[in-house]
Amino acid sequence: MEANDLINLAYVVAATLFVFGIKMLGSAETARRGNLISGSGMLLAVVITLLAEGLDYKWILGGLLVGGAIGLVAARLVKMTAMPELVALFNGFGGLASLLVAWAEFEKIKASGWEVYQLETSSNPTFSGFVIYAAMLIGGVTFTGSLFAYGKLSGKLSGSAIVFGGQKAINILLLAILIGVGAVFTWSSDLELTYKLFLTGVGLSLLFGIMGVMPIGGGDMPVVISLLNSLSGVAASAAGFVIANNVLIVAGCLVGASGLILTVIMCKAMNRSLGNVLFSGFGATSSSGGDDDDREPKAISVEDAFYVLEAANSVLFIPGYGMAVAQAQHVVKELAELLEENGTEANFAIHPVAGRMPGHMNVLLAEADVEYEKLLEMDTVNPIMPTVDVAIVIGANDVVNPAAAEDPSSPIYGMPIIEAHQAKTVFALKRGQGKGFSGLVNKLFLMENTRMIYGDAKATISSLVNELKG
Ligand code: NDP
Repeated sequence: MEANDLINLAYVVAATLFVFGIKMLGSAETARRGNLISGSGMLLAVVITLLAEGLDYKWILGGLLVGGAIGLVAARLVKMTAMPELVALFNGFGGLASLLVAWAEFEKIKASGWEVYQLETSSNPTFSGFVIYAAMLIGGVTFTGSLFAYGKLSGKLSGSAIVFGGQKAINILLLAILIGVGAVFTWSSDLELTYKLFLTGVGLSLLFGIMGVMPIGGGDMPVVISLLNSLSGVAASAAGFVIANNVLIVAGCLVGASGLILTVIMCKAMNRSLGNVLFSGFGATSSSGGDDDDREPKAISVEDAFYVLEAANSVLFIPGYGMAVAQAQHVVKELAELLEENGTEANFAIHPVAGRMPGHMNVLLAEADVEYEKLLEMDTVNPIMPTVDVAIVIGANDVVNPAAAEDPSSPIYGMPIIEAHQAKTVFALKRGQGKGFSGLVNKLFLMENTRMIYGDAKATISSLVNELKG
C-alpha cells in the first residue's frame, strides 16, 4: 500500500467517525459520546494531514497556539446566552479561512502560470478556476454575513431588518455580476485579467454578505445563523476541492448538509419558507397587533401565586430567553421537585426556537439535571394545554404569543407556538413590559387567565421555592 492509499484510508475512517458521531448527537443520552467520536475523527484527519510532505510547521504551530488560546479563552468566558454570537463568529472565520485558501492557491497559479500549475497538480484548469472562485465567493459571503449577524445578535448593530427602496434589485444585480465575473474568471487563461476579476469577486462577495443579511432581522436571525453555518461548510468543501483534500470535502459537505437540514427545520418551526425569511424584510415594519389593546396586565404577588401552585394538580413550565438571562434553570428544577413532592405533576414545554440558539432550553435544563422525559415538545403539550392548571411562562415571549395563532395581520401569524393561553391559569414571569425578540406586543399578558409576576425570573422562582419550603 502506498502512502497516498494509507492517507485516504485514514480519511475514510475519519469521515465514518464524523457520520456516526453526528448521528449520536440526535439524542441527549448519546450526544456527549457522539461529540467525542466526531472529535476523534477530526483529530485523526488533522494528524494525518499534518504528516503531508512540504509543510512549514512553524506557521502551523503559530496558528495552533494563537487559535487554540483564543478558542480556550472564548469557551471559558462566553456565557450561554452569548453562544449564538460565538457560533456566528465561528461560521464567519470558517468562511474567511476558505476564502484565504482559495486566494493562496490562486497566488500560486499567478506565480507559476496555468500550464505549470496544471502539470504539477494534474488538474483541469476550468475545474480549478471554478472551485477557487466558488470557495472565495461562498467564503467571502459567509465571512461578512456572519460578522453582520454577530453585530445584530450581540446588540452592537440594530437587531431589526434594514430595508430600503430598490434593495432587492441591487442584491439581484450584485449576484448577477458575481456570477458573470466568475464565469469569465473560470474560462479565461489571461492571468492579469483573472487576477483583476478575482479581486473584484472578493470585494463584491464581501459586500454581498452584508447586503444579504441586512434585510433579515427580528425572529429570523436563528435561521440565518443556521444557513450561514451551512454555507461555511459548503465553502470548506469547495476549499477541499481547491487543495484536493478529500476529508475537507467530506467534512464540509456534512456541515453544509446538516446546517441546511437545521435551517429547514427552523423555517418549519416558524411556518415560513426560506425565501420568505431571506427576502421579506420581516421585522422592519413596526409591531402590529396588540398596540391598540387598552387592557392592563394584572399582577399577582409571590405569596398569592404560591397558594395557587400549592393547590394545582398539574404545572407546566414554559422557559424562554429570560430564563437563560436570569440563569434560573437550577431554581426552576428545585421548584419542579418541590411541586412533585406536593403531589403536583410538573413538566416542561420546549419550543424549538425558544432562547437564542437551537436547543438552548434543552441545554440549560440538562445542565440543571432535569430529566429528559420531562421535556415535552410543542406537539405533545398543545393538545393537553386546556387540562393544565398552571402554565408558568419563565421569560418566554414570542414563543407563547397567541397572535401567531389568532391574528392574521401579525408578522408572526402562522408560526407554531406553545399555546400557554389555553391553560386554566398562566403565570408570566418577566421583569417589566419588555417585548420579545421580534419586538411584538404579546396579548397573552393581557388575558383574563394570566397573572404577571414581575421581577428577575431567578429571584421570583427562588421566592416561590422558599414559600413552598415553608
Ligand atoms: P423572547 O426574546 O421573545 O422574550 C424574552 C422575554 O424574557 C422578554 O419578554 C423579557 O421581558 C424577558 N426577560 C429577559 N430577561 C429576564 C429576566 N432576567 N427575568 C425574567 N424575564 C426576563 O424569548 P422567547 O424565548 O420566547 O423567544 C425567542 C425569540 O428569539 C424568538 O423570536 C426566536 O425566533 C428568537 N431567536 C431564537 C434563536 C434560537 O435559535 N432559539 C436565535 C436568535 C433569535 P422583560 O424585558 O420584561 O423582562
